[in-house]
Amino acid sequence: MTFVLPRRLPVGTRNDRLTRRAGQRRRYGATESEILADIRIANSERSVEPLEDRELRQIARSVARYPPAQLDSPIPRRRDPIASRRRRAERLLARPSYPRPVRISPSRFSVAPRRGGGKSYVVDVEGGSPACPCPDRRSGRSGTCLHIEIVRTWATQNERAWEGPR
Ligand SMILES: [Zn+2]
Repeated sequence: MTFVLPRRLPVGTRNDRLTRRAGQRRRYGATESEILADIRIANSERSVEPLEDRELRQIARSVARYPPAQLDSPIPRRRDPIASRRRRAERLLARPSYPRPVRISPSRFSVAPRRGGGKSYVVDVEGGSPACPCPDRRSGRSGTCLHIEIVRTWATQNERAWEGPR
């Protein structure tokens, strides 16, 4: 399967498409810094609203963790629990109708449910490990959840201080 990077990258697709592009470069043996240079150019030329550089650095770093030989098939992105929640958070926040997180104290944010009618969750980003009372976060497997990633994405987009780990 050949992936061709689209000429324009709308909000909500940027991380996903640039990660695929990075995976292609890695497959052919590019180093982390070579990948970063490549997706920086693609991001500035193709993104309708360019992603922040630190997000590009995260993409390059995570893709470079894979040895090139393992990338004969596409990167198993779906199995990366943090990346998949992050992509979902970015897609939700790209919808103008999706409610923004509400800051209710210096470190706590109320996050609306994914669909109308559910209960909202209070995410606490204080300290080294962001907390959320939802079952996904409490299972502890990935150290994150959709709600934490929504706060992280939203805070990054709004250039607020993100007090948790990156
Ligand atoms: Zn949660």
